[in-house]
Amino acid sequence: MSALIDLNKDISLCRLCEIAKTRTKSVPGEGAENAEIMFIGEAPGWHEDQQGRPFIGPAGQFLDELLASINLKRAQVFIANVIKCRPPGNRDPLPIEISNCQKWLDKQIELISPKIIVTLGRYSMAKFFPGKSISKIHGTAQTQNGIIYFAMYHPAAALHQGNLRQTIKEDMLKLPPLLAQAKTVKITEAKPEPKSEPPAQQLSMFG
Ligand code: URA
Repeated sequence: MSALIDLNKDISLCRLCEIAKTRTKSVPGEGAENAEIMFIGEAPGWHEDQQGRPFIGPAGQFLDELLASINLKRAQVFIANVIKCRPPGNRDPLPIEISNCQKWLDKQIELISPKIIVTLGRYSMAKFFPGKSISKIHGTAQTQNGIIYFAMYHPAAALHQGNLRQTIKEDMLKLPPLLAQAKTVKITEAKPEPKSEPPAQQLSMFG
């Protein structure tokens, strides 16, 4: 059994949060174990909770359309969420739920080791770009620990605010060149230069 399948089993047994009591199924995520691009949404909704699969409702249909626009299918990427159980009534995830679920997301990232992580929406963005505003950083990338993080609006945002649809489509089109770049250009973190030591005092040969 693959490590990811083992992990899904552990996730399905998790009872750390109250919402484990109200879930129908946990929704660990799905896709290629060696995906180069990983999409991270917010939390399962009603449809996802019923089937245990991420992004299969209306927002998921738009995500499929966005993937098709860059010639990708779901099976070629990995799709997960910040939290793995549905918050009742589709309320926002609570900080405790996000922190309880952190270990599952961390392990998924470690096992999949994607080149690019695409954050979908505010909650996912906040995990990797704390303190940033989605309206300012959508469509932009940052690297951390050798992974490129690319921020996008949540696909559901286009269902509520039609004017965001085009923006989301345009942001998605930036992914193929970003991936091509990630494959050809070695990306290193910008680290502050170590403070240079004052030159060791040269011993005078003449006393
Ligand atoms: N919205 C999300 O953030 N994730 C899903 O899986 C479905 C809808």
